[in-house]
Amino acid sequence: MPGAVEERVDLARHSHWRIGGTADIVVRPRSVDELSRLYGWLAAQDLAHVVIGGSTNLLFSDEGLRAICVEIGSGLAGLRVEGNLIFCEPGAWAPHIARGAMQAGLTGIEHICGIPGTIGGLVYMNGGSQRHGIGEAVVRVVTIDPQGRIGSRTAEECGFRYRHSIFQETGEIVAGVELNLTPGSDPGTIRREMLKIMGDRRRKFPHRQPSCGSVFVSNPAFYAEYGPPGAVIERMGFKGLREGGAQVSPRHANFIVNTGGATARDVLALIQRIRQRVAEETGYVMEVEARFVSSSGRVISAGEAGVPVASNNAAGYDHGGSGRVMPGGFRKA
Ligand SMILES: Cc1cc2nc3c(=O)[nH]c(=O)nc-3n(C[C@H](O)[C@H](O)[C@H](O)COP(=O)(O)OP(=O)(O)OC[C@H]3O[C@@H](n4cnc5c(N)ncnc54)[C@H](O)[C@@H]3O)c2cc1C
Repeated sequence: MPGAVEERVDLARHSHWRIGGTADIVVRPRSVDELSRLYGWLAAQDLAHVVIGGSTNLLFSDEGLRAICVEIGSGLAGLRVEGNLIFCEPGAWAPHIARGAMQAGLTGIEHICGIPGTIGGLVYMNGGSQRHGIGEAVVRVVTIDPQGRIGSRTAEECGFRYRHSIFQETGEIVAGVELNLTPGSDPGTIRREMLKIMGDRRRKFPHRQPSCGSVFVSNPAFYAEYGPPGAVIERMGFKGLREGGAQVSPRHANFIVNTGGATARDVLALIQRIRQRVAEETGYVMEVEARFVSSSGRVISAGEAGVPVASNNAAGYDHGGSGRVMPGGFRKA
């Protein structure tokens, strides 16, 4: 198998939530060529697999992972600045890219300076902060299709919209990203802006306990009517609510933290309880940003995963919520 292979990997050590069972096999490609050959090989063998980056947005199943886990990380994390363009390998860490841009006097991605994840995961999620998404700065994405063929997509072909990209549907791997930024800024000014963003995040968000960042997606229609998800969840009295080792953060109600020993089931139970109550009170079924990785390697929104009925019954999931999907990631019940 192309790539560096490790067996019996404790996923809780990798996941930012510090949750998950054991992965049978993790493969870490060391070049785009190796990644492409790996995908060709997996397709030829017809083996189930899942790609992960920094695991900062992932909830791994308590049952672990039987599919092959392709981890894109430090072995593929190079950066190159040329004029106002930055070429990133898929495992490049978002805060490092923001720092590289600052040092080159390039502005436009300050908002990613505090987001702990790889550029591959960030593009897949069209993540960002301050109401921005990384898609705004993308010129081109190098892709690898499920058969291992290397291709590319322009920004327009990536279908970026709020916390969404086409990669959530195509199964293509983000194998490289070209960013176009605005030149001519003073690195000191960019640095001050980034320090301000980091300071705000530190003040507002929980940072001592493991989490995956915001759990629920902010939706413009819902926001206009009721406010941000965190404020709504807080008003409904869920702040501080516990399920096993998982807790709605007492600091920010759109975060679920692991207070120690939380299971995926605990987190899914909290998510479902909050969603159901918010749907009853507002008519909106909140979409969940965090992704659940099942033991078979299926990646779905954690809101769609349901709650395992019994911890030893991976197939038995109780699905909550139903209704119409709203543009921007909500469903009107
Ligand atoms: C403390 C904290 C704060 C956060 N704050 C923010 C924030 O402000 N804004 C925000 O948007 N997010 C935030 N997040 C969530 C997370 O950091 C981002 O979604 C991040 O971009 C995910 O990157 P990752 O490499 O960790 O991806 P992972 O979590 O490993 O994977 C996420 C998804 O991307 C897919 N994926 C990963 N790499 C690739 C690739 N190369 N090609 C194709 N698909 C891929 C995976 O299959 C998975 O579906 C936060 C998380 C934490 C823990």
